[in-house]
Order: sequence, then structure tokens, then C-alpha cells
Amino acid sequence: MRDNLDTAGMAGEIVATCRVMMSTGLVVGTWGNVSRRCSPESFQITPSGVPYSELLLEDLVVVDLQTGSCSGRLRPSTEAPLHAAIYRMRPDVGAIVHTHSPYAAVFAVNRAEIPPLMEEMAQLVGGIVRVARYAASGSAELAEGAVAALQDGAAVLLANHGLVGVGRTLKDALTVCQVVEKSAQVFLWARLSGTPHLLGEQEVLELRRGFLQNYGQPGTNARQ
Ligand SMILES: [Zn+2]
Repeated sequence: MRDNLDTAGMAGEIVATCRVMMSTGLVVGTWGNVSRRCSPESFQITPSGVPYSELLLEDLVVVDLQTGSCSGRLRPSTEAPLHAAIYRMRPDVGAIVHTHSPYAAVFAVNRAEIPPLMEEMAQLVGGIVRVARYAASGSAELAEGAVAALQDGAAVLLANHGLVGVGRTLKDALTVCQVVEKSAQVFLWARLSGTPHLLGEQEVLELRRGFLQNYGQPGTNARQ
């Protein structure tokens, strides 16, 4: 397995992302997982069953995209096949964050998509967050369903399970999960308190285009 890049530096970013997920309520216990592409053929992922508060750099596992073979002292997250399937289908994806955040979970158990109701969701996610068909956690069927529902988007809901956000970087993927969670919360409260007005298809396209072309500082990837 080729793994030429700085996996120690990447591991630090993965552990830092896990700590943010835990401290902001996107996950509890050992649920959820985080990965980052190491090379065209491999990715580094959190291990199975290790609490985020105890996670060490050396606990992370490198997984071959095609064969699923691993290098590391622990077993990878049981959702490694899901991550591998997304990396194989989407060469543009450099990182994946999977959360069990509560408001996204409301839509996941209702098996209801989240529409682009706020500008930041249109800008960052680019459209509807679809729901993958139900399949058991860790199964090949879950990976197939998630890839089919994700298509070229930035997020997908896993039925009765949670949320997956993707991006070029871990920061991007984490921000996608945070924005979708906030949008799910707002949509739920808006429906309970009134009649939400959703953004139109053309408005979403223009917001997304403007964000990709103009947001942040020239020559940087700054997006916040
Ligand atoms: Zn999960």
C-alpha cells in the first residue's frame, strides 16, 4: 500500500476533528467516525470502539481503498467500507466526517430529506441532503446506498442512523456536518412554528456559484 504523505500530521488533524465533534455534541460515546485520504489508494480512519477523549495518534488505521487491508495496531471503524466506497467514487473528496448529531437524526429516522432552506446550506452543501436507503451499520449495502444518495453532493443522511459530510479537507467536511445539523434544527423549528419558505432552485445555484467563486480571501481556502 502506498502511503507517501505525512500520516502523522494527518492523524493530528483527525484527532482534533474528533475532539471538536465530541465537544460540540455532534457525537456521543464512540459513535461516528472521521477519515482523511492519505494517497490515491488509501485513507486514514479512526479505530473502532475507542472513546474520542482517549484517542491517540497511533490508534488511527490506514486502509487500502481497493482491498480493505489495514495497517495499524487497532481495527478500523466498522464504517471503513462506507468511507472506502465514497473515496472510490469521488476523487474530489479528501476527507469524510460521520456524525450521529440529534437534529440530523430526526430527519434520518423520518427518512426525510433536508432541503436547502438557508443561504449557508445552499452555499456550502449546494442542495438537498438526500436519505440513503436503510441498511445495517457497517454493511456493504449501507456503503452502496450512501454512495447512490450522495452523488456529487456534500452530505447524505443514513436512514435511522446519522449524517455523513464530505469535503476537500477535514475542515470542510466538519463544517458541512455543522451546517446540515443547524439547518435540520432550523427546519424542524420553522415547521413547528410556521410555514418555512425554501430557497428556489435558481437561488440555490446562484448562491453556490457565488460562494465557490467569491467567498474567502484571494489565494486562500478561507471560507469562514
Ligand atoms: Zn454511524
